[in-house]
Amino acid sequence: MESIQKKSNGKPREECGIVAIISKNPSTHVAQAIFQGLMAVQHRGQEAAGISVFDANKSINTIREHGLLFEALPLEKLSKLWGNVGIGHVRYGTAGGKDINNAQPFPFETPQTPPFAIAFNGNITNYHLLKEQLKSKGIIFLTNGDTEVIANLIAANTLVTKDWVENLEFTSKLLDGAFSLVLLTNEGDVYAYRSGNKPLCYGTANILNTECYIIASESCAIISLGGKLIGDIQAGEILHVHQDHFFHREKLLPAEKNHCVFEYVYFSRGDSIIDGKSVHKTRERLGRNLAKADEEFLNSREDIIVVPVPDSGRSSALGYAAESGIRYEEGLMKNRYVFRSFIAPSQAERMNLVRMKLNPVESIVKGKEIVLIDDSIVRGTTMGRIVKLLRQAGALKIHVRSSCPPVRSPCFYGVDFPSREELIYCRKELTAKNHEEACIQIANEIGADSVKYLSIEGLIDAVELQKKDLCLACYNGKYWFKSDRTKEFLTNGRI
Ligand code: SF4
Repeated sequence: MESIQKKSNGKPREECGIVAIISKNPSTHVAQAIFQGLMAVQHRGQEAAGISVFDANKSINTIREHGLLFEALPLEKLSKLWGNVGIGHVRYGTAGGKDINNAQPFPFETPQTPPFAIAFNGNITNYHLLKEQLKSKGIIFLTNGDTEVIANLIAANTLVTKDWVENLEFTSKLLDGAFSLVLLTNEGDVYAYRSGNKPLCYGTANILNTECYIIASESCAIISLGGKLIGDIQAGEILHVHQDHFFHREKLLPAEKNHCVFEYVYFSRGDSIIDGKSVHKTRERLGRNLAKADEEFLNSREDIIVVPVPDSGRSSALGYAAESGIRYEEGLMKNRYVFRSFIAPSQAERMNLVRMKLNPVESIVKGKEIVLIDDSIVRGTTMGRIVKLLRQAGALKIHVRSSCPPVRSPCFYGVDFPSREELIYCRKELTAKNHEEACIQIANEIGADSVKYLSIEGLIDAVELQKKDLCLACYNGKYWFKSDRTKEFLTNGRI
């Protein structure tokens, strides 16, 4: 048996969201504001949540627990977490599994090192190798996750330098992979570092009548606090904010951006601005580019409607409709109250769950030819169930469109994709003569009349960032490991 949450919509899962708040008023308690910011990024992780705060006694206090935010951090616990500087985290974990010790923020203290806490989003691809080295030096690990490895490296570097910026520079040089992190010290400082791939931005807000700095995975967290986005932390850059509002930015390392293009396709919230681009507008452009590629197909159609898979296909479907002039209809309704704790032991119950989550609107879809738009087709199982529901409601023809290219490779940068064997396009690619034939086979498997994907060129065009600045590895298999040793390790072990 497995948790439905993990596979409920067949989508890849992001592995975490971060929020940090620094108030210069020592009597402000930021824990509840961090909770509010974390609510805005709950979509990035639902397995566990936590908050660490720095208090007037120069202590760092942490609470972390399994579950959604309201389960993990109930008000009676939050209200006892006093302090004007803090960091928070929501987790969806792969490295390290579900042990509560892998929940974050990760507090760290030894007799030799000052206390600190870190919250981290991403994946360290060489963490097994680093862990082996640390173990050979006598370090004992309490968890099997990558965050403890990072914390130990930071701790080891505190013996070499008292300067946290220098410490993070030393530490980040050792880390291969993709990550954004925030570090809270027992002096009331927050340091934020972005390697490039994962988003991390900052802004300000007036919280409890005090001007505060906010650092967050997505700008929607800042806006949800009534704040103002200032900008993104750049690849290889560190941002340091002290509780007296000393503010400092510094480029630590030359770093490649490798922005995760899936943030625009699916992960990020539509109202976020990531690296200067509106996520919603980008998704609209993805839909427009899909429609452009469908021009010939649409010319020969009459009485056809565009229907999104809610919510993930909505912005792209709007773009598709605007570009093609075809009527947009909400032909599927989503039930927002189907919670994550459902267990689905059988295929029949999984079908039932899709039915509980999505209902076709018969008055819209009956007797219609439909262009059905979603952000991606990963395993194909959920899409197959949706197609079946639409057919049962009387849809005549269903043309499935994915607003991103076929997903053909796993992600090693902190996103939980299924294995190649589970990815529907990879399975079909093995036997199909070409892309067109693979699409026909996929349409047959999911019961659709046709299937098309946006091209990689169409994706890059819509994102409006340079190709060299994007990670496209899950589409084209071009990984960008910093060290050959990591590449070799993963190639032999996992790819
Ligand atoms: S492989 Fe795909 S999901 Fe992973 S970081 Fe790159 S673009 Fe994002």
